[in-house]
Amino acid sequence: MTRITIAKGDGIGPEIMDATLRILQAAGAQLEFDEIEVGEKVYLRGESSGISKGAWDVIRRNKVFLKAPITTPQGGGYKSLNVTMRKSLGLFANVRPCTSYYPFVKTKHPKIDTIIIRENEEDLYAGIEHQQTDEVVQCLKLISRPGCEKIVRYAFEFAKRYGRKKVTCLTKDNIMKQTDGLFHQVFREIAQEYPEIQNEHRIIDIGSAMLADTPEVFDVIVLPNLYGDVLSDIAAQIAGSVGLAGSSNIGEQCAMFEAIHGSAPDIAGKNIANPSGLLQAAVMLLNHLGQCATAEKIQNAWLKTIEDGIHTFDIYQEGLSTANVGTREFADAVIANLGQQPNTLQAVTYREGTSFSLPGYQRKTPARKELAGVDLFVHWNGLQAAELAAALKKLESKM
Ligand code: NAD
Repeated sequence: MTRITIAKGDGIGPEIMDATLRILQAAGAQLEFDEIEVGEKVYLRGESSGISKGAWDVIRRNKVFLKAPITTPQGGGYKSLNVTMRKSLGLFANVRPCTSYYPFVKTKHPKIDTIIIRENEEDLYAGIEHQQTDEVVQCLKLISRPGCEKIVRYAFEFAKRYGRKKVTCLTKDNIMKQTDGLFHQVFREIAQEYPEIQNEHRIIDIGSAMLADTPEVFDVIVLPNLYGDVLSDIAAQIAGSVGLAGSSNIGEQCAMFEAIHGSAPDIAGKNIANPSGLLQAAVMLLNHLGQCATAEKIQNAWLKTIEDGIHTFDIYQEGLSTANVGTREFADAVIANLGQQPNTLQAVTYREGTSFSLPGYQRKTPARKELAGVDLFVHWNGLQAAELAAALKKLESKM
């Protein structure tokens, strides 16, 4: 038995979590649960990050966390729980499978089967912003070699573990030569260690256009934080499955699993929400823990349920679906299908867990540095450049 942490969250969170836990238990998952409270109630009690100190201790102790969506209260002063969690727990990789389930779920792209692996801690999301003048603000794009090595290696290891054929790196290094340039450079270096896996790099703009147009040409995609945030939503949407997708946030010590959608307050408490996104996250969690047989059993039962046309309202299609069911009834149908395989959709086979330890970072020999000058940012209200030059000249003699 493995003890994991769970949080039922807000809105539809408790309903979809109950459905997911029932399926996990019926499938024989070797899990025990410690429940913590996160989200709206905690924010409104005055914890600005939506989580209490005691809850952190449980998460750190159990290391694996299944989280239902939460509601972030409107107004300033509330920090995003997800951002806090990524940073505090070092969850460097966000893994989001984007799959279409054609013809059972409507999509313009019947053949999507892409895994997006997004760097989760750095880039413009490092939270380093400055007010430079009354009219200029600045956000720093932070990319580190250890950060790039970790995420790129993770992508190749993931591809190897799951028998994926190709890893594509997307950056804008034709413009951001230092930051995106480093990400691309590290990709080139690490790709050499995996000759059995194809590798390619594309500029993010054409790469995004291709993803929207011919997503089937992509297999695993690895990319920096901001691009990954945008592209993973596009990929999930065009797969037709925003309500069906799960994601994992992986760190060296801890991992967090969740649905990609929010707390859907508009449909909360009605027993109509689709629990599939959280269930997909739970399947990723089981694979992470090495409980692959149970993960496979649940995934195949879920695929069979989708294929049988037993659908919640969000994916229900007249003529194709056979029943419009509620959250609880959908979970009952998955439980009834445990042990069965889909006929039309491809059944899954999970052999090995997805948890692997990456080699420690080998620090490079420090580069030789010479002082060539300094960059100075001046907030100057005067009009004459000569006045500014004269003022700076005085400083020069003091340096
Ligand atoms: P949302 O994803 O909650 O809802 C968008 C639309 O999709 C709504 O119409 C909703 O009814 C529908 N929907 C979402 N999940 C569904 C499901 N499982 N089954 C059927 N329909 C579903 O996004 P939103 O409305 O922008 O955000 C609502 C709240 O969720 C906000 O407070 C936001 O901050 C929060 N949020 C939390 C997370 C998270 O905890 N990871 C992620 C995104 C948004």
